[in-house]
Amino acid sequence: MKISAQIDSIAERIKDLTKDIEELKKHLEILEKRNEQLSNYLQKEDKSKSVGNLIKLYEQGFHICHSSFGQIREEDCIFCLNVIDRTEEND
Ligand SMILES: [Zn+2]
Repeated sequence: MKISAQIDSIAERIKDLTKDIEELKKHLEILEKRNEQLSNYLQKEDKSKSVGNLIKLYEQGFHICHSSFGQIREEDCIFCLNVIDRTEEND
């Protein structure tokens, strides 16, 4: 093979590789977007689960407010209700 032909073939190869790299970059972008969506979804899921647990705890008759957390609740506690309100709002 002549040197000029070799150079042509190398140039052709580089063009192919560049195209491959561009495609991989696009693919990576899509995967990164999906990964982000999935993490957001899982975080939300986690949050709503923990809010659900707090509400359950409150309904079972325990305080979930900071000052009396885990103590037995004899009547409605405005601080606990405030905690539930605030956590639900943030969702
Ligand atoms: Zn309370």
